[in-house]
Parts: sequence; C-alpha cells; structure tokens
Amino acid sequence: MSSAKAHWPDLTSMDKTGPGVYLHVPFCLSKCSYCSFYSCTATDTGIRQYHAAVLKRLNTLRHHAPWKSLTFTTIFFGGGTPSILPVPLLAELLARIKESFSITSDQAEISIEVNPATIDQEGLGKLRHAGFNRLSIGFQSLDDQQLKRIGRPHSANDALETYVTARKAGFSNISIDLMYGLPDQTPEQWKKILGQTMELKPEHISMYELTLEPGTPLASAVDRGEISLPDEDAVMEMMEITRETISHSPFKRYEISNYARPGFRCRHNLNYWNNGSYLGIGPGAVSAFEGKRWSTREDLAQFLDATKTPRSIEGEEEVLNHEAYFRETVVIGLRLTDGIDLKKLHDRFSIDPMTYYDKTLTHLIAQKLLKLEGWNLSLTKHGLALANTVMAELV
Ligand code: SF4
Repeated sequence: MSSAKAHWPDLTSMDKTGPGVYLHVPFCLSKCSYCSFYSCTATDTGIRQYHAAVLKRLNTLRHHAPWKSLTFTTIFFGGGTPSILPVPLLAELLARIKESFSITSDQAEISIEVNPATIDQEGLGKLRHAGFNRLSIGFQSLDDQQLKRIGRPHSANDALETYVTARKAGFSNISIDLMYGLPDQTPEQWKKILGQTMELKPEHISMYELTLEPGTPLASAVDRGEISLPDEDAVMEMMEITRETISHSPFKRYEISNYARPGFRCRHNLNYWNNGSYLGIGPGAVSAFEGKRWSTREDLAQFLDATKTPRSIEGEEEVLNHEAYFRETVVIGLRLTDGIDLKKLHDRFSIDPMTYYDKTLTHLIAQKLLKLEGWNLSLTKHGLALANTVMAELV
C-alpha cells in the first residue's frame, strides 16, 4: 500500500479529526447480562501475557504500511474494561503506542474507558499523569436495583464516587455512558437518572437504548418471561424526556446517541463516523484504511499465540468496492446531526450523491426524513427517530 497521506482527504479541515489508534482490552470483572461483546475474565497471568503480546504487536505494526506513515490524532483504550489492567501497565502501553507511531504533537485526544469501582484516586491521578486526557465512565444507570438486574458489578454510589474522584485526579474531559429502556424502568426513573447525571456537569454523555442481543442471559430471561422491558411507548417517552432535558442544557446532540458540551465531541468516534482510518490492536479490534478493513479474531489465546506466528493474528479482511465505500460513508456520516457535506463527499469519491441516489433521496426529503440545506444533507428530527429506516434506504 502506498503512502496514506498521498490519498487521504484532509479530514482535519472537515471535522478536526484524523486517524485513531484503538487498543482493545478484552478483560472484564464479570459478564453483564446484556453484553454480547467479546470479553474474558481477568487473571494475573492473562493480563501479563496480554501486555507482552500488545508490546510485541506494536513492534511489528510500527514498521507496517499504512500505519507507519500516518499521523494519529486520537488514542482510545476501550474494552472490555481497560481499568482492570494495573495502572503502570496502562501507562507503559500508552507510552509505547506514542513511541511506535507518529502522534499529533500536543492536541491528541487520549481516552480510556473505566468502570466504577475498578480504579481509585491514586490510579486515576497516575493515568492523568501518564497522558490520558479523556475519561469515559460506564455508569449505565444510577439505580442499584437496575444495575443488579443487568449484571453490572458496581453500585450507583461507586459510579458517583468514581466521577468525583476522577475530577479530583485532574480529568477535565469526562464522558458518562448511560442506558435507557432497562428492565422495568419507567420514564420517571429515567428522568431522575438523567437529571442526576446532568447535575454532575460532565463534558459528554453517551445514551444507548438497551437492545436485546440473542444468546445473552438477559435475552433468555426476557424470553422466559422472568424479566420485562419497558414497552415502545415508555421508551419513546424516555427519548422525549432526553430531548427536552438536553434542550434546556449546554449539551448538544451531535450523533444519534451522543451529546456534548461545545468543544467536547469525541474526536476518536468522529473519525469513525467520518469513515476515516484507524488502527485497532487487541483481540477483536478492527482496523480500516481506504475502504479496506481488517479484524483481529475475538480470541485472546490466538492473540497471545500470534506473537510467535505473527500472520495467524488476522481474522477477516473485507475490501469494499468504491461505491460500497461511498454508500457506507453516507450512512455512517448521517448519524451525525451536522449531517454530511455533499460537496466534500463528491470531492472525496468523485460521485455526485444527488445523481447517485436520485429518486431515493428526493423521496426521503419529501417525507421530511432528510433535509437538504445548501450542500448539507442531514436527518430531520423525525428522521433521527427513524434513523434505521432511512439508513436502510441508502446503504
Ligand atoms: S463491562 Fe462492558 S464489555 Fe464487559 S461485560 Fe459489561 S458491557 Fe460487556
């Protein structure tokens, strides 16, 4: 593959984002009942071996195209539960990533996900000192009974304490993850949780509706009638409560599930929504470059083994043709409330979106699901609520 810079559009001028490095830490304290992500129980040996394997992987990747010629603007430690790793190991992994690749000078966004009760103030202080400048805390709820029912291994108080501690440790960019539509949750309960979260004054909030993933313990419990989820009307009411609460706050919804104060949109995720390049490291991590995607197998043992036989680490490779890459960029980009700039899209792909989608686009605009303002195409308020239907027409 030739130099990335020669072919990649100027993302900096589009959204102040650029290529990102993602480190997947596959360990969790226990399995949440709704979770279908790949994760495994942490053991001292497993953590030590994982740490050694990531360092070896970095040594290989640093010499590989296209990564060796990109300048990364964000680094994200996600999982799993990255904060299960001892802080000195996290600090070392970050330092080695910075040494291995070109990272934008002093403006890089460096995030880490932490779960409540997995790290104390001293640990958070050390993470801040190591260079992490953005924290994403997985609250999910602030109701102990709900937390228990979805198998979260922490209490509401643990979540609040972790937030306060993170502030004391010097984090000035904190995101909180919440979920709504939890078992037996009422709109009033959601309103209370959202209100408590807003009172903390985080910089960013992600809010996801609970979806039942087949094969998870929660899905089975719902099938057996042991647990019930709020009905569609109740969930719509929760969405309306969110819209109303956010409209009276300094937050702005900038993506279907993400809200930020001015200047605090997550640049790492913006790069995904711009369909930019990213390097994923760790079992199950995905990398992408110019319509080509590589996934690493969701298998810790294989990831560890791959340090001995480097090629066996790769899982699937997916190569999108030019049109598929274009369509994917449209669909992912429309997740952003700012929408997409059709002129920039045309410059990037040499495809005129209006001609390409023709009647489909005209129809979606006529139905008031999409709106076109100058060169800008975005979902309407109605379209945001029916985003999946709109995307299905354009993908
Ligand atoms: S902490 Fe996150 S990744 Fe781990 S089991 Fe729970 S939801 Fe899944």
